Amino acid sequence: MTSSFIALGLAQEQIANLDTQLLKRKLRITQSPCDTEVTIDSRQLKAFCSNDYLGLANHPDLVDALAQGGQQYGVGSGASHLISGHSAAHELLEKKLASLQEKHIPKVRALFFSTGYLANLAAITGLARLTQHGDLSIYSAKLNHASLIDGVRLAATQMNAAVNLFDHTQLASLTDALKKDTKSLKLIVIDGVFSMDGDLAPVTVLLQIAEQHDALLIVDDAHGFGVLGKQGHGILEQENIQSDRIIYIGTLGKAAGVSGAFICAQDAFIEWLIQKGRPYIYSTATPPAIAHTLLKSLEIIESDEGKKRRSQLNELIQIWQDEMIFSEWKKIPSCTPIQPVILGSNANALMAAKLLDQAGYWIPAIRPPTVPPGSARLRITFSANHSADDLRKLITTLNRIEQEVHQKASHD
Ligand SMILES: *Cc1c(COP(=O)(O)O)cnc(C)c1O
Repeated sequence: MTSSFIALGLAQEQIANLDTQLLKRKLRITQSPCDTEVTIDSRQLKAFCSNDYLGLANHPDLVDALAQGGQQYGVGSGASHLISGHSAAHELLEKKLASLQEKHIPKVRALFFSTGYLANLAAITGLARLTQHGDLSIYSAKLNHASLIDGVRLAATQMNAAVNLFDHTQLASLTDALKKDTKSLKLIVIDGVFSMDGDLAPVTVLLQIAEQHDALLIVDDAHGFGVLGKQGHGILEQENIQSDRIIYIGTLGKAAGVSGAFICAQDAFIEWLIQKGRPYIYSTATPPAIAHTLLKSLEIIESDEGKKRRSQLNELIQIWQDEMIFSEWKKIPSCTPIQPVILGSNANALMAAKLLDQAGYWIPAIRPPTVPPGSARLRITFSANHSADDLRKLITTLNRIEQEVHQKASHD
């Protein structure tokens, strides 16, 4: 037997293990654009699960901008940014993105990436290279997104960084560790909005801590950009903070409705990442038509239409907070369009998701390792394209399903 057959047996066995633990995930194929109504298996479902918070993913103006961008710039970029892939559309987009954070980061410059995953890897591993091997510490919140965790792990391997994990709701251990830290470079890494709980990071306090201990603060605002702040510029606008030690990361496939991500920081940090950020250097530039489409998306985010979409989201959040009352399940307090409902066991979460599907809703069960064991949940998300009536109907359905799941569970 060759080793590939041993591997095949291992793969089959591991997948069977996931299945028995109710941890095997399944792909579902959508047959319609991302919106609040989607077609799956030729059935219409009400979706409350995408990150398309402003409802822009299927916006006619963006669809037109993409077609027009294709006409103007062609389809592919042809190479990485440093070889020949950096087009006028990318340059315009970066200028615009930087202008959105100029009140918050002095001498700000922006760098565009094809995904947030890559932007996070580049920011953390690239900045880690500013110093010598072993001469840096990284402080990372325990509930940070997987892409930040992977960036931290990669920096730990490449640069022998000391890694400290902290609880973002109790910062005493973070400050204690920083007091003793004698390394030349310290990075604090945090999600702006926690992707599975929907709560906000205490960025104002973290910035004070970063200033006291001469650390850089890396904020991944994947779920805040477009949503938070009067103009939708994100968590720095909402918290009204300004500092030259903030590295701000936003993604453009969520509220912005398209694809991609960016890092905003002082010019010298961005210039360094262009020189040494391997995920930036060794990856083909995003199609310029996408950058062109994103310029249109940013225009909508800042316009009156964008403001209306954000106020619709706030209305939905208010309805949920006031009217969604569970007897068995637990809501996590959240002031963002991410509203998790904790069911605990994988079995209950899967049962609830299945009953929701039968009732015409698409809300998948979120299980470990995406969330801690024992906290399987429904991650309900709102879009500005949902109406108050859509949400009230969901609330009624969830109350019925809660009773059903509870009765079934107590019979077992
Ligand atoms: C989605 C997400 C990312 C990854 O962004 P992509 O553009 O989807 O790769 C990074 N960080 C957080 C917190 C996210 O939720």
